[in-house]
This record gives sequence, C-alpha cells and structure tokens, in this order.
Amino acid sequence: MLVAEEELRLAHRDLEHIAKTDSLTGLPNRRCFDVRFAHEWSRACRTGNSVALIVIDIDWFKQYNDHYGHVLGDECLRHIAELLNKNINRPADLAARYGGEEFVILLPETELAGALKIAEEVRSTIEAAKIEHRGSTAGIVTISAGVASNHQDGVIVSTDLVEKADSLLYRAKKRGRNRVEHQAREVLET
Ligand code: GH3
Ligand code: MG
Ligand code: MG
Repeated sequence: MLVAEEELRLAHRDLEHIAKTDSLTGLPNRRCFDVRFAHEWSRACRTGNSVALIVIDIDWFKQYNDHYGHVLGDECLRHIAELLNKNINRPADLAARYGGEEFVILLPETELAGALKIAEEVRSTIEAAKIEHRGSTAGIVTISAGVASNHQDGVIVSTDLVEKADSLLYRAKKRGRNRVEHQAREVLET
C-alpha cells in the first residue's frame, strides 16, 4: 500500500514536470511562464518592486529550416536554449520557450538597466557562438530582443509587459535585427 502511494506520488511529480516543460528544449514552456509571470506581476503590483521581461526571437529562422532542414532547425533551437540559460543566474529568473523560435526571460526584482544588460549579453553570446546560417545576411544565427519593465522614469507603469516587450522586439526587427530595443530608447527617440 505504501509502495503504491509512493509510486503514485512520483508519477504525479513526473506529470507535473512534463506539463511545465517544453519537450524539445527542456526549458520551461509557455504555460509555466504564464503562471510564473502572473505571480510575479501581482507581487510587483503589491510591493512596488520592479519586474522585467525580455522577449527574444531568432532572426530569419524560416530560412534556417529551409536551408538546413527541420532536424537541424530543432538542433539549433536546443543550442539557443542552452545559451540562454547560460546568461541567467538568479534562482528567481526564468528563461522559457514562448513558442516556435521565440523565447522569453522573466526577471523578477530587476530594473530596466539590469534587464538590458542581460539581453545584450544574450545577444552577444549567441553572436559569438557563430552558428552558421547561410540564409541570413549576417551568415550566422542572431537574435532580436525587446526589453520592458514595470518601472519607467521612476514611475510604476501597469502596461501589459508581454505586449510592450513584443512591440519593442518588432521594432528591433524593423531596425535591422541582431539588436536589442527597450522602452527608454523609445522615450528618447519618439
Ligand atoms: P524574423 O527574422 O522576422 O523573425 O524571420 P523568421 O523567418 O524567423 O520568422 P517567421 O515567423 O517567418 O518564421 C519562423 C519560423 O520558425 C517558421 C518555422 O519554420 C520555424 N519554427 C517554429 N517552430 C519551430 C520548431 O519547433 N522547429 C523548427 N525546426 N522550426 C520551427
Ligand atoms: Mg517569430
Ligand atoms: Mg524569427
């Protein structure tokens, strides 16, 4: 009886892990991110602490698949996931696969400047890895990123951070890719 209970407990734990994990990369999946983000967001609203978000998208990834095939495309996604994890250090930080070739990094209690530093480190780590990509003008795999935080000019803003970081990512794409865009730049330049 006790053995059966223990087996059930372990099976339940395995299922929980599977439900939270992206099977291709082993990173937390979007569902896991959504739960953690909602939690960190409500905590930040309660305490006034900062929370930051980096949304990342691989540049010209459709061309990567077209050129090298899906198997190597999947391999590339796993490699990028590994490189992402190398750049996050705090236990509360979370790098997740948001979907397709998009990733997200959640940084609780982190100001915009700190998040920007990490985004830039991620971008340069991936650039330095020099993963061949003949379908890209750069010749190697690069990423674009959008960075947003709930603190802007010392004021707490309640904008949808995912939407905000996503629109900044879109701007990074428009401005040439392999770059990081953030909200302070938007204030300065628009
Ligand atoms: P951009 O620089 O504007 O982001 O261009 P892109 O080609 O990366 O963007 P687009 O959205 O046109 O294509 C994304 C591609 O990502 C489509 C699909 O081939 C690839 N992709 C998405 N999920 C997976 C996956 O799980 N495995 C593989 N191999 N490819 C994937
Ligand atoms: Mg995309
Ligand atoms: Mg892309």
